[in-house]
Amino acid sequence: MKLIVLLGAPGAGKGTQAKRISEITGLRDMSTGEMLRREAQEDTPLGRTISETIGGGNLVPDELMVNLIRGCIKDGKCRRCQSPELCHAGFILDGFPRNITQAKALDAMVREQGRRVHHVILLDVDEKILKDRIESRARNSGDERRSDDTASTLLHRLSIYKSLTSPLIPYYEGQGILRRLDGMKPMDVVTQELTEIITSRRAA
Ligand code: AMP
Repeated sequence: MKLIVLLGAPGAGKGTQAKRISEITGLRDMSTGEMLRREAQEDTPLGRTISETIGGGNLVPDELMVNLIRGCIKDGKCRRCQSPELCHAGFILDGFPRNITQAKALDAMVREQGRRVHHVILLDVDEKILKDRIESRARNSGDERRSDDTASTLLHRLSIYKSLTSPLIPYYEGQGILRRLDGMKPMDVVTQELTEIITSRRAA
């Protein structure tokens, strides 16, 4: 079972690329943001807390996230698929881990199961371009607009990425499994480069 982590700032294209490469490679794309947005629609105390946290552009508590991912990776029992067969080939994690605590929990989780993270792929995008994409996403998201798609929340999410998520770059570099891709290349080229890394037989 292959385990791929996609890293990148908000606006870097992780979500779009995760869906595309999931179709090409058969790996299950697991977006924690999507899972949480679904949970946030439930009219329960947990749903309301998640909704407020996401709406403010902040991170949901680590414990909740780790439990969510553990269920999926361990036996494919996440709410979304409910079917271990679908997860057999492996996962593309889009949005997890988001900080060092989550990364260490992921390491421990996969080690426990005798697995490993094969590649961590960083979609690198220049900050000026990210800000432009963020502003255009906030302007153009129309009816599809997410509660956290306002320019100010997106900029807050960018600052959280810089302070809490970007330390994962040296963390995974230290493990020798980080690959960097230029996320400013045309979308199809990025998809092709990602697919090449993921399907290559060479160990990370
Ligand atoms: P995303 O769709 O990945 O941009 O995530 C949208 C929002 O969901 C984030 O801004 C966070 O509020 C929350 N979220 C997603 N993944 C995580 C995670 N691994 N840890 C904490 N919060 C998360």
